[in-house]
Amino acid sequence: MKQFVVVGLGRFGASVATTLAENGHDVLAIDRDPEKVQAISGDVTHAVEADATDEEALKTLGVRNFDVAVVSIGDNVSANILCTLILKELSLPYVIVKAPDKLHGKVLSKVGADRIVYPERDMGARIAQNLISSNVLDYIEFAPEYGVIELLATDKMTGKSLKELELRASFDVNVMAIKRGENIHISPGAEDKIESGDKLVLMGKNENLDKMHDFGN
Ligand code: ADP
Repeated sequence: MKQFVVVGLGRFGASVATTLAENGHDVLAIDRDPEKVQAISGDVTHAVEADATDEEALKTLGVRNFDVAVVSIGDNVSANILCTLILKELSLPYVIVKAPDKLHGKVLSKVGADRIVYPERDMGARIAQNLISSNVLDYIEFAPEYGVIELLATDKMTGKSLKELELRASFDVNVMAIKRGENIHISPGAEDKIESGDKLVLMGKNENLDKMHDFGN
């Protein structure tokens, strides 16, 4: 079981911390605001009031023994950077940081952040993808320019096998899974037929996934 330290308990950090704890993980939650610490104390393993830019304070809390750190100190750019630097110097193996924009993200990578997340940007893209086509139920970015979508089977797809649909040859997208009601069929084969109401999980380049929006509409 991994141990997590979550620094900054705004909306994002608090949500990460409580979700990890709900799933049975050890979570140390840190914020300099005593009200934020108090509010989360019943939901995580430990909640502590500390300044995330104070190296000695982080050392005393034994932060170096944790596996993963999630840093989300809002718009406090210099604090985000300083805290990330301290955590990496303490040899934390994996540090994820929430960044408000790309430039900030670049600086965070330079000081050693292992992963940068842009929740507002990503959620905006997901919502937009949902709005563009009523058949696209969900979208997640997999890598820059690549994504995974969940697509409700269109009329043009129903009754056809994956071989007949030729999605890979025509659109260069891969069908990773088919959801049918409660069942999930992972890595479906060429002979598998699409039924009405099926949800297809497709992976590919965003520009190719975009073409799927109109397929059969
Ligand atoms: P969100 O967008 O996730 O809601 P917020 O900006 O509301 O983010 O929250 C950031 C949190 O980070 C606040 O709870 C704030 O008290 C905390 N914070 C800011 N600077 C520090 C710091 N140096 N040390 C610890 N916590 C900090």
